[in-house]
Amino acid sequence: MDDRLARVRARLSAAQKVLVVGHVRPDGDAISSSAALALMLRRLGKEARACIPDRIPCYFREIPGVEVIEGVDALRGWHPDTTVVVDSGSLERIGPAAELLPTGKPDIVLDHHATNTGFGVLNLCDPSYPATSLLIYRLAKGWVPLDRHLAHLLLLGLATDTGFFKYASVDARTLHAAGELVALGGDLAGIAAAVLEHRSLAELKLLQKMLGTVTLEAEGKLAWGYVSADMLRSLGLDQQASEGFVGELRNLRGVEVAILFTEWPPGEVHVSLRSKGGVDVAELAARLGGGGHPRAAGCSFRGLPLPQAIARVTQAALAALARESPRSRQG
Ligand code: 5GP
Ligand code: MN
Repeated sequence: MDDRLARVRARLSAAQKVLVVGHVRPDGDAISSSAALALMLRRLGKEARACIPDRIPCYFREIPGVEVIEGVDALRGWHPDTTVVVDSGSLERIGPAAELLPTGKPDIVLDHHATNTGFGVLNLCDPSYPATSLLIYRLAKGWVPLDRHLAHLLLLGLATDTGFFKYASVDARTLHAAGELVALGGDLAGIAAAVLEHRSLAELKLLQKMLGTVTLEAEGKLAWGYVSADMLRSLGLDQQASEGFVGELRNLRGVEVAILFTEWPPGEVHVSLRSKGGVDVAELAARLGGGGHPRAAGCSFRGLPLPQAIARVTQAALAALARESPRSRQG
């Protein structure tokens, strides 16, 4: 690992103008990793810019440093000599930002998804890391001095991708790193308040509508629910409003696989998959054209109506559950 980090440091040291790109439907880790890496490179005297090719949820904007992130339009016509893609398992995850890559292929990929396709020239993907921002922190240590702003920004990705330090991906190394970031001035309570306590009344009403759709199958091992485009339109919301809803399904006792379908924009369905049993949802998502982690993954369908998307994914999930526990399914 140290060798690979050294190679990435050497490649970045030789760069002058660096573009750092995160994925569409950005989560805390994509935002944290892209903004923190761009700011680190600026501290090393480089020209560095960060791009997320999508709207950034407003609650992330409260975290200092996030404001460096720009959209695709602002970066057209800027010519980086080095490009880095972070927290993305495949090139399609960066959507329209792919057009900003001069060679069509990123020079460096920094990621932690087991489903990573190795789409960069230099690929550093380590699924043992619970967050890409921890990989960025390791890259920074002993190379770039970290102040409390950078520590706070890096803590954002680590906290959000670990469900605030409660997922199975959390080990002693994760907590040590979190402790170091807190010692440097990262404010965990502030991140938790910004990220977890921002729901509007309209979003609460959307949750109520989604809960009305919840269906259990396979003796309660599969729970799924949906948010339709009509529900979102009637409340004046978009797909970001259903962020976190899949957690409500996973919280059900006895559930092993939880699935949330969000139809937005109209004509597209985003599928969020969660597992708390033996089913590897990254594998399940990969079969459906997506990817992710063993316990949190996703995929999207374009042009497939919501009922058909639900049928296709729930069938695949039921088959995965049956493969996982054939005896209990027979009984
Ligand atoms: P979420 O359900 O929160 O949208 O996504 C959970 C995780 O699944 C993400 O952190 C990401 O790793 C992965 N993921 C979600 N959607 C997609 C997708 O469309 N394609 C791929 N490759 N991965 C996805
Ligand atoms: Mn991540």
